[in-house]
Amino acid sequence: MDKPFDFETIAVRAGQERSQFGEHSEALYLTSSFVFGSAAEAAARFSGAEPGNVYARFTNPTVTTFQTRLAALEGAERCVATASGMSAIMATVMALLSAGDHIVSSRSIFGATQQLFGNILNRFGIETTYVPIADVDAYRTALRSNTRLVFVETPSNPLMELADVAAIAAVAHEGGALLAVDNCFCTPALQRPIDLGADLVIHSATKYLDGQGRVLGGAVCGSSGSMEDIYKFLRTAGPTLSPFNAWVILKGLETLRIRMQAQSDAALDLARRLEEHPRVARVFYPGLESHPQYQLAKQQQSAGGAIVSFEVKGAREEAWRVIDNCRLLSVTANLGDTKTTITHPATTTHGRISVEARAASGITEGLLRVAVGLESVDDIYADLSTGLH
Ligand SMILES: *Cc1c(COP(=O)(O)O)cnc(C)c1O
Repeated sequence: MDKPFDFETIAVRAGQERSQFGEHSEALYLTSSFVFGSAAEAAARFSGAEPGNVYARFTNPTVTTFQTRLAALEGAERCVATASGMSAIMATVMALLSAGDHIVSSRSIFGATQQLFGNILNRFGIETTYVPIADVDAYRTALRSNTRLVFVETPSNPLMELADVAAIAAVAHEGGALLAVDNCFCTPALQRPIDLGADLVIHSATKYLDGQGRVLGGAVCGSSGSMEDIYKFLRTAGPTLSPFNAWVILKGLETLRIRMQAQSDAALDLARRLEEHPRVARVFYPGLESHPQYQLAKQQQSAGGAIVSFEVKGAREEAWRVIDNCRLLSVTANLGDTKTTITHPATTTHGRISVEARAASGITEGLLRVAVGLESVDDIYADLSTGLH
């Protein structure tokens, strides 16, 4: 058998089907519906007897190319694209769970995911139990007979704690549940959860898959069976990916590996410099030897990723001083861009949770989160250093 193509090759080539015009770059099909050659063909397409496009809420060739490529990058049987990362999570739960089912989730997950689990799904009879991300036994203890899904986001935001995907997959499977991993921070360029035993991989394509801060998008990858259920939910409920956004993200995938590698290298360099800085109390980065899960990070990720958090000596005043002295870094909670961003989690992304819960999760007033982009590390470090005194 021929050797399968490498990641870099898949990222550039997979899923493309040229039209009659022989275009070299992937075509953008901005069309909401498709025409049929005859009444019989229309009937066959609608009934599913004949494959082919019908309506863009069901399928669109540009979206299909994106799905095929991301599935190949994640090593999944199939991928289904969604309008955003949140609609990927919503579609997964709505398609695979029912009222009366239970979710076990790592505690420090994206704020909107927490809102979805806590304020929306609970109204539909789906309950969620939160456990500390790194405590494998806590997942086992939290499992119930009705637990259908274990959900983790690794590394966590903003403290960069890791979930041991292989160990948690084994626990989930013993309990008859599926393991879903939100792979937004690492992308398949750095971490492939399915290879580690996960069943579902969830993406906010808005972040590193696009990588240039242009469009919203999302995706779920996994087995053909689960993906068929998610696809059926989406084509009925409607939060599907627009062809334009699919095309933008598809072009983003072509540079995913080199961006993730360059941004991870820069993040490690920055983390090392910050660790040496006399005004920095602590640095949180899985690529540092000082990270408590450094060995696990080396096993399940090929690099540390682009997010570095650090605690300044002092509290809110000292942390805000760093932000307010930045001339280069963008002051925004967004991440996954070529432009470096900085945020103060305690008063932005994690501002709505109680002071006690925030303290318990380790998100202090002195904590800053930097999402490293593609500028030079010297410039990023110089910008951060201005207010570090
Ligand atoms: C941004 C983000 C999401 C949500 O994605 P959207 O595209 O904004 O809907 C989910 N999970 C993580 C980890 C994120 O960073």
